[in-house]
Order: sequence, then C-alpha cells, then structure tokens
Amino acid sequence: MYKSKEGHKMADESRTGRKLDEIEEIAKGWGKLLAEQAFPDGVGLDVDLWMMEEVTVRATKALVSGAIETMTAAQTEALEGQVSCPGCGQSCRLDHRSRPIQVRGGTAKLNEPVAHCSTCRRDFFPSAAGAEA
Ligand SMILES: [Zn+2]
Repeated sequence: MYKSKEGHKMADESRTGRKLDEIEEIAKGWGKLLAEQAFPDGVGLDVDLWMMEEVTVRATKALVSGAIETMTAAQTEALEGQVSCPGCGQSCRLDHRSRPIQVRGGTAKLNEPVAHCSTCRRDFFPSAAGAEA
C-alpha cells in the first residue's frame, strides 16, 4: 500500500472495499475484452487451457506495469521542483532515477524522484511511494 505525507487517502475501509469491488468488476470486463481481442474469430477447440493462461498472464503483467508506472509517475509529478532536505532543511533540486521494481503480479519501471543535499552529502527520496535506497 502506498502512503502519502498527508496520510492514507483511502483511509475509510468500507469505501476502499467498495472501490476495490468496483475496480474488480471493471477489470473483469477487460478480461472479456481481452478474450475477444486474443481470439477475434472465436476460441478454437485447438486452444487449450495452457494457451488461455499464457495470454492472460502476459496481459496481467502488462496491466500491472502500466498501472503502477502511471500511478507512481503521477506522484513523482506532484513532487516536481525543489524539496527540503529532511536533515538540514536546505532546499535541494529534485532529479529522477529510473529503476525496475518487483511488484505483486509483475514488474514496473519506477521513475524515482531523488534529491541530493550538498550540505549533508546524502541522497534522499522525497517519494510518497516509500522507495528507500
Ligand atoms: Zn541536508
């Protein structure tokens, strides 16, 4: 779970549950679309469960990386500009560093915000994504 500095935005458990139910329904719809896209002429009798699974797993991994990369990029954008060093409070310029991360269900490229404080001689990560060095 991602946490932001302002605290968890989806703190209300039941509201979070409803939202997740909603997303699950939407994603199930995408699954149906995927099946149609993967086999536009219909699923032939030669298509076995292994092949169905192969198509689904590939799509799932792509979905995971697409969603995670979009969400983390949105957070990174929110942090653009100058940030204060947690050690001395000096204003430091924010840069980005890209690295692959493992998430449940696949991998994603995290464009991680990183700042360097010349006074404390250390890098720090003002990310809300909780990515530590
Ligand atoms: Zn500092």
